[in-house]
Amino acid sequence: MGTDFILDELKGLKDRSLMREYRTIEGPQGPHIQIQGTSYLSFCSNNYLGLANHPKIKQAAIEAIHQYGWGTGASRLVSGNMILHEKLEKKIAEFKGTEAALLFPTGYMANMGALCALVTKGDLVIGDKLNHASIVDGCRQSGATFRIYPHNNIHKLESLLQRSAPFRRKLIVTDSVFSMDGDIALLPEIVEIAKRYDAMLMIDDAHATGVFGRQGKGMIEHYGLEGKIDIIMGSLSKAIGSVGGFIAGSNYLIDFLKNKARSFIYTTALPPSLCAASLAGLTLIQEDISLIDRLWSNINYVKFRLSEFIHTIAVESPIVPIVIGPAKDALDLSEILYRRGILIPAIRPPTVPSGTSRLRISLMATHTEEDINRLLDTLKDIGFLTFGNHKTSDQ
Ligand SMILES: *Cc1c(COP(=O)(O)O)cnc(C)c1O
Repeated sequence: MGTDFILDELKGLKDRSLMREYRTIEGPQGPHIQIQGTSYLSFCSNNYLGLANHPKIKQAAIEAIHQYGWGTGASRLVSGNMILHEKLEKKIAEFKGTEAALLFPTGYMANMGALCALVTKGDLVIGDKLNHASIVDGCRQSGATFRIYPHNNIHKLESLLQRSAPFRRKLIVTDSVFSMDGDIALLPEIVEIAKRYDAMLMIDDAHATGVFGRQGKGMIEHYGLEGKIDIIMGSLSKAIGSVGGFIAGSNYLIDFLKNKARSFIYTTALPPSLCAASLAGLTLIQEDISLIDRLWSNINYVKFRLSEFIHTIAVESPIVPIVIGPAKDALDLSEILYRRGILIPAIRPPTVPSGTSRLRISLMATHTEEDINRLLDTLKDIGFLTFGNHKTSDQ
């Protein structure tokens, strides 16, 4: 039978502890979620500020449905472009400190669309080894020559650029916060190098938006790099609590992407209610700095408590990886935690390099100290240190 390979491949995944399955969440997202009628403590959501179920965001979406209906019926360039798309783009540009912004249905599509529009055959795109899969897919799909430097290794990045003369255009692309490791890119150095070699610079601010910078504007605010990064990609699906992706940058960059980004052109516009929800999310962040403060006080508390028993983890963001090693061990540990009422799925290859399977803890502003104590005490109680040597995943 022609489809037998599917069964073989599934069995192979299962045998190597690499089979992926999801659980069904029965109520809204939050620090406590309902699965099969039981409450679990969730430490695996990108809903960093707890906005995914915020009353003001729900209200904004409901009102937008009343006023603008649900669907959009066409792509933006045909007849799907509505007032709320433009309002949201204006708000994103203001938030990111750029001239303009362009919405995409998802962050994945924003990366794909922008990368494939900006570079092609004859060009060079250079990325960090730990970049998100959507960047990797965009780089591959673009047709440009794609080179990778070891994680956060600025010298290797520079040596790749030293050999870049034959290429027409050059683009450096990096996560600003690395999604599976939680550490941050050395952006000031990368900005310098990009300038020196006349390369474009694109950052993926998915995990920094609403998290980094005093006002949550992202890694540019954190480092004070306003105006120094050509292409800023972000997602509305994480701290903003909604769905959607965007590119922020100059007016001419956005005009170019409107004309060239296939994942913008050939897809239906987002429902207006999603835009209303994102607008409300961004407004909440601007009006209530304490949301971000609460997230960081949880991050700092975990950092403090973790230092009691593991010394190799640098906590730099709400993403705290506990690297276990073999996929099966990570899966087993995740299962033990689940039986104790804590949801942290194991992150395994190909999401992370082989031998670095991990539990990726992610924190929310809405976790209480009691929630965090329960997680750490449970980890301690089950003696999870016996599961491996906590290698760091870099290099
Ligand atoms: C989640 C994520 C994306 C994709 O964003 P979506 O809006 O979920 O499609 C892109 N880049 C990084 C670094 C991410 O973590």
